Amino acid sequence: MDSKKNRPASSLQPMFSVLHIVESPRTAFWFFRSLHKQTENQCALTSISSLEQAHERLNVERYDAIFIHIHPENPPHQADIALLKAWAHSSAIVAIVHTEADSPIAQHDIDTLLDMGIDDYIPAQEVNTPLLPRLVAYAIERKQASIRLATMSQKDSVTGLTNRAEFIRLLSKELKANKDSDNITAVLLIDLDQFKDLNDSQGHSAGDQLLKHIAERLQHAMRQSDTIARLGGDEFVVMLKRMPNQEAVERVAKHLVKELAHVVELGKCHVFTTASIGIGIDQGRSTSESLLRHAEIAMYSAKQHGGNRYAFFTRKLQVAASLKVSLEEELNRAIAQNEFYLAYQPQLDLVTRKIYGAEVLLRWQHREHGELPPSTFIPTLESTGLIVPVTRWVIANAIEQWASWIRQGTLPAGAHLSVNLSPKVLGHPSFVSLLHEIQQIPETKQCNLHFEITENLFIDGDDHIENLKAIHDAGFKLSMDDFGTGYSSLGYIKRFDLDCIKLDCEFTKDIVNSPVDLAITKAVINLGRDLGIDLIAEGVEDQATLDLLDTLGCRVIQGYFIARPLDSDHFKGFCLAS
Ligand code: C2E
Ligand code: CA
Ligand code: CA
Repeated sequence: MDSKKNRPASSLQPMFSVLHIVESPRTAFWFFRSLHKQTENQCALTSISSLEQAHERLNVERYDAIFIHIHPENPPHQADIALLKAWAHSSAIVAIVHTEADSPIAQHDIDTLLDMGIDDYIPAQEVNTPLLPRLVAYAIERKQASIRLATMSQKDSVTGLTNRAEFIRLLSKELKANKDSDNITAVLLIDLDQFKDLNDSQGHSAGDQLLKHIAERLQHAMRQSDTIARLGGDEFVVMLKRMPNQEAVERVAKHLVKELAHVVELGKCHVFTTASIGIGIDQGRSTSESLLRHAEIAMYSAKQHGGNRYAFFTRKLQVAASLKVSLEEELNRAIAQNEFYLAYQPQLDLVTRKIYGAEVLLRWQHREHGELPPSTFIPTLESTGLIVPVTRWVIANAIEQWASWIRQGTLPAGAHLSVNLSPKVLGHPSFVSLLHEIQQIPETKQCNLHFEITENLFIDGDDHIENLKAIHDAGFKLSMDDFGTGYSSLGYIKRFDLDCIKLDCEFTKDIVNSPVDLAITKAVINLGRDLGIDLIAEGVEDQATLDLLDTLGCRVIQGYFIARPLDSDHFKGFCLAS
């Protein structure tokens, strides 16, 4: 054997350690003598005479190989070999096969042995030949290689974590085992928020370094019993087994979001990482695929909401995700079949304590999924251009409805009607002709029509300056929507000749607690008052916020505290009651 040549003669290190399950004292002695002779004593041999003894030895010692004697005409029990394999771990199980009159081993006997899980075999007649050490060394090498291969096929090469295929196998196993239990299995899909930027700007080796770092952080943050895997790219996943309830899962998610939001040192640069986590929970019927898909849908929702957070999978998210696939078709059908309707959210004048007006909000009553919020379909209306006909429909219907309420005395004359205008509509070549069309509707004059345009549009508002001007020229008013979510620059107010500013929900909700938000609100209110611009605070959900806005001199408010967006019947009822 080549390696033997290189080995110093005095080496005390045995070439291999062998556990020999003997059949009889005679074979024990014969094997012992052969092995020592052929390996020049460089073999540590332990002989035992039963499976039970093998179990005891394997509990305390690791062997390179285990030898058992087999007579094909009287093969061992499959169950015995299975036990031996379970105890053997990484040892190669080698059969010494005794055939009648030393004839060659039949192929089907070899197949049977390998099927049973035996790793290798040596014909008994070759035990006492110089071939023996090589046969044993090969058997051991083959076993080690197959273990390495199996490990490689289960591990992610960058982080050393479990890989996708192995994770799915383990998850399926856990779901099956936990089917009838009261405990829940949760899958947390973790996606880094900044990974693509880092990979693009710093290169792949920095990316890999970050992935390794995240893998370590995850291992540090989780329990030993949780399975952590890398699915690919910057996606990691954690399986939480046997959790008592959803609250316990949520605690882990919270902890992970916190653990993953930190600064990582990569060579000379520092990267601030955060993660978005989507959570799928098994309720006894999930498959590994469905659970991972749920976690993925939830993860996208967490990302959409700005990242650095977790989100649980919900039915609503699933509807939104499944809609995405066929949304354009569905929207065309919705338009044709009148599935859209309008909701009106009242705005209250704090000085007169009367209705100031309302904002019209689009609603979709889907035939299967029920009412869908605009966030699920407006982006598709915009990307497909369907937003133009839909806006035309919204405006025409709202004007007709509003004018009839004014005629009936449900609303006071001059009540403001606010309509949202997508930047896609404002920038559309047909926008000016849309304005003319609206002007032609006789009822328009009664409506005090405001167009709400999101604050972000004004950042590059110069591109739209002509169309913004056209709104005023047509006799309509201009509101800046969602103030406080973008640059919140007071400069826009003068530059674009605004009639109204709407403070966003996100902003209003914090004014009671945030001195910065409060200071900005004060400044906007004062500036508005000086310039004769109305200010509407959106998202007022409680008395404390209302009182504070009132004290600051904000005149108009909108929010759940006054009323949620109402369908036309309820809105009419609200007006009559106020
Ligand atoms: P937006 O223009 O900011 O509309 C206000 C949103 O805030 C509405 O959500 C409303 O229901 C919600 N809201 C009102 N009061 C409160 C409150 O007290 N607390 C909280 N948390 N939220 C409150 P909605 O109806 O889901 O509309 C979402 C967005 O969809 C609107 O945001 C608007 O940008 C868009 N949208 C709605 N209808 C139309 C439309 O006809 N055309 C266009 N282009 N966009 C529309
Ligand atoms: Ca709005
Ligand atoms: Ca708004």
